[in-house]
Amino acid sequence: MIKRLRPLFLYKCPNCEKGKIYEKSPFFGFGKMKESCSHCGHIYEWEPGFFYGAMYVSYALGVATLVGVFIICQFFFERAFDPWMIAWMIGTLLALAPYNHKISRVIWMYFFTRKGRSKTLVQQK
Ligand SMILES: [Zn+2]
Repeated sequence: MIKRLRPLFLYKCPNCEKGKIYEKSPFFGFGKMKESCSHCGHIYEWEPGFFYGAMYVSYALGVATLVGVFIICQFFFERAFDPWMIAWMIGTLLALAPYNHKISRVIWMYFFTRKGRSKTLVQQK
């Protein structure tokens, strides 16, 4: 389980953990996802609408971000609640939106793919 976290955060294929999921650097912008793994041929979106479920993961990450920023704000503001905290929370949420979008899709794929057991493979040339 812990061994799967490193390739997950590096946006590697959930089947072989070697091929890249995104075409460009995964850390900037929304990025474009490849259709299949260039290393093992695993198809990332194996059925239409597969990534709709990643919205649940994205929602959970968004709430965790808001709670985390709220807790951090407690150290920098005198009052327990200040309207500027909302600005900080929304600003952080928007700044992390591309990262949240990508990592939630990758987490969703890792939920449903066991290493080396892909049933959706593209024949390699
Ligand atoms: Zn792969």
